[in-house]
Amino acid sequence: MDKIPFARPLIGVEEEEAVLRVLRSGWLTTGPEALAFEAEFAAFLGGGTPKTAEPKAFAVNSATSGLHLAVKAAGVGEGDVVLIPSFTFTATAEVVRYERADVVFVDVEKDSFLIDPNKLETTLARLRAGKTAYQDGGPCGRPAAVIPVHYGGLPCNMEEIMRIARTYQIAVIEDAAHSFPSRLPNGEYAGCVGDAGVFSFYATKTLATGEGGMLVTRNEEIARQVSVLRSHGIDRPIFARYTDPKASWYYEVVEPGFKYNLPDVLAAIGRVQLRRANDLLAMRRNIARRYDEAFGGDDRFALPPGGPSNAYHLYPLRIKPDALGLDRAAFIAALRDKGIGASVHFIPLHTMPYYRNRYNLRLGGFPETMRRYEQEVSLPIWPGMTATMIERIVEAVRDVRG
Ligand SMILES: *Cc1c(COP(=O)(O)O)cnc(C)c1O
Repeated sequence: MDKIPFARPLIGVEEEEAVLRVLRSGWLTTGPEALAFEAEFAAFLGGGTPKTAEPKAFAVNSATSGLHLAVKAAGVGEGDVVLIPSFTFTATAEVVRYERADVVFVDVEKDSFLIDPNKLETTLARLRAGKTAYQDGGPCGRPAAVIPVHYGGLPCNMEEIMRIARTYQIAVIEDAAHSFPSRLPNGEYAGCVGDAGVFSFYATKTLATGEGGMLVTRNEEIARQVSVLRSHGIDRPIFARYTDPKASWYYEVVEPGFKYNLPDVLAAIGRVQLRRANDLLAMRRNIARRYDEAFGGDDRFALPPGGPSNAYHLYPLRIKPDALGLDRAAFIAALRDKGIGASVHFIPLHTMPYYRNRYNLRLGGFPETMRRYEQEVSLPIWPGMTATMIERIVEAVRDVRG
């Protein structure tokens, strides 16, 4: 029986031709393809309803790099704290530590997988009063930013988060790694509402170039800093040095900077994937619709929150271990035995040794996060899945027995 992998990018002839075009052009690093990708990406996001001004877009070699640049450009540093959900990938937190600031975890909402604005606000109030983040300890410091994560493609309550951020005067950096393209209730694209938003083009993400990311912002100062920091703190983009009439050898280093640029080979793949974005989204939505129909009304399962705003990077089914007669690990093992790849998103960061030890955290401090974690199973949801594959997964999930 053929295996159905958990994730697989849909790469076709157009992507192959785009890569060949770059290889034959003689320009392999960041250049015309990356510039075009940035412009096309910004234009796509500016096409929300209501039509909004296009953000500025900066192609980077990963979303992690983009999040790091956003954190640094937002002025986060030592003595600061940044609030993030515990229910996320470690990249969201590590970039805060790169800048020697501390991470404050916030629990998720009761009925979603998203950061809870009420708990965000209570934690901010404690920190602002000079207290530790939690009643029984945790870090303290100046709250500088929040990084909401649009988990699985589901957009956070940005209206409420922006209101809280304005009240406490902290920056908002959207981790939009999962949410290309997700829409907020007002029609705007997730990732374009905060001070900066960062998308991921990692191999399993909704727009895949293998590795890569895009930082978007409408904040002029953040844009200026990101464009300098992204390439060695040099005040002149690499490609411009070869096309400007000014001497090509001259540049000035104004900061230590980083090497976070996206090479043209990958940008060329991204441009093709971007043109197909709405088709790829429709394929993922179809799969989600079939899963919803198959597992809805079955008391052994709870459906993920869905809706037309969801980019469906993940399909996080919740299993009810009591009704099923087996736990989550056994459920995933049973699917594996049937040749089906499933996964878990995420192992909460507050349970990880580094953060648990650094902040002396209790496992019970984030009850909704733990409840979600113990029940969550991510089913395959990738655009090239055939109807036969989808039905095989539906049957396998229904037939798992304790
Ligand atoms: C994948 C992911 C990232 C990091 O993306 P990279 O492009 O691999 O650096 C960040 N945040 C979340 C929530 C992710 O899932």
